[in-house]
Amino acid sequence: MSNKPAATLPILPGATLGILGGGQLGRLFTLAARGMGYKVMVLDPDAASPAGQMADVHLRADYSDTAALQQMGEACVAITTEFENVPAASLIELARHCRVSPGAAAVAIVQDRSHEKTWLKDQGFATAPFALLDNETGLEAALAVTGTPALLKVSRFGYDGKGQARVNTLEEARAAFREFGSQPCVLEGFVNLQCEVSVVLARNDAGECALFPVAENRHVNGILDVSIVPARVSESLAGQARTMAREVASQLGYVGIMAVEFFVADGRLMVNEIAPRPHNSGHYTLDACVTDQFEQQVRALVGLPLGDSRLLSPVAMVNILGDRWQNGGPHWDTLLAHPNIKLHLYGKEAARPGRKMGHFNVLDADPAAALALAEAMRDAL
Ligand code: AMP
Repeated sequence: MSNKPAATLPILPGATLGILGGGQLGRLFTLAARGMGYKVMVLDPDAASPAGQMADVHLRADYSDTAALQQMGEACVAITTEFENVPAASLIELARHCRVSPGAAAVAIVQDRSHEKTWLKDQGFATAPFALLDNETGLEAALAVTGTPALLKVSRFGYDGKGQARVNTLEEARAAFREFGSQPCVLEGFVNLQCEVSVVLARNDAGECALFPVAENRHVNGILDVSIVPARVSESLAGQARTMAREVASQLGYVGIMAVEFFVADGRLMVNEIAPRPHNSGHYTLDACVTDQFEQQVRALVGLPLGDSRLLSPVAMVNILGDRWQNGGPHWDTLLAHPNIKLHLYGKEAARPGRKMGHFNVLDADPAAALALAEAMRDAL
């Protein structure tokens, strides 16, 4: 244990907060925290890290670098994370020095798709049919559980549709499994989706939750394209999604901000994924809610009362991917000419296809008008 006294909650402005990971989620956390008067230390090996650019201190080291973790643990009063792939051991190490949220146990469950799916099933949450795979010999039995088509997904380090393959036959499944290096995978039945929705929420030490409104999410090639809020689903389904999300957080004993993604099929909800961090589908909160998801992350981390998560205006959020730079770069003037569009760019230099470079929120009292302008601007960019 470190000699540092345990932090008194709430931790007030002026204190130094830490974040593991320096991507766009870390950047938006850093901006929120600094705006509230906290200092921020970012741990990320990348010299050009979007969060590092905004931080008081950018520690350039690996997430399992013991010396860096010790330095961070000593310098910070509380530490959080922006991505699920941080080694659980690093969170345990940091917790020897200071307050850490979310905790290692919850992150360890959700960072591994096999653990996550098994946990969800054991807790009684509906999911798509799935089977776990450690080796090729299990493929035939797994396909019998899921049927075809099915999706083969690597258990670790997959994101935005990466490490996923759609398979129709045993041969295709075998080829995909080998393609992924025969690492542990989950085989999932392909669900005929009506739509997808998500709930971002924060849970504090006392077990109180603040839930943001349900977002309806449209993906293209496995990557979020547009979020529409309020989601165009029945009150009853939205209520069920919120109840399930709250239940997931409480059964994980979670403290911090998280997102639960759902599939909607045949009018029923299935949990797709849990993210132990702010979420792309919660970016609409930056401009459309009383408190945004990053301020909420700060509040949960420092032990302040959770902020009001009320929606102030219907909104449509559009992701801006690196593909937009292929033919000379986006037409920012067209986008920024609209007084009800809010642009957020992440400070990334290299615009690779599929890379998330920024997003914009379109606010309009008429939700259909917000979506129509969002789609028009996405196509005009
Ligand atoms: P994931 O990374 O697992 O969230 O997958 C990315 C996206 O792929 C999801 O948001 C869905 O649009 C689609 N997808 C993933 N799994 C399934 C499934 N079992 N059935 C249908 N679509 C899926």
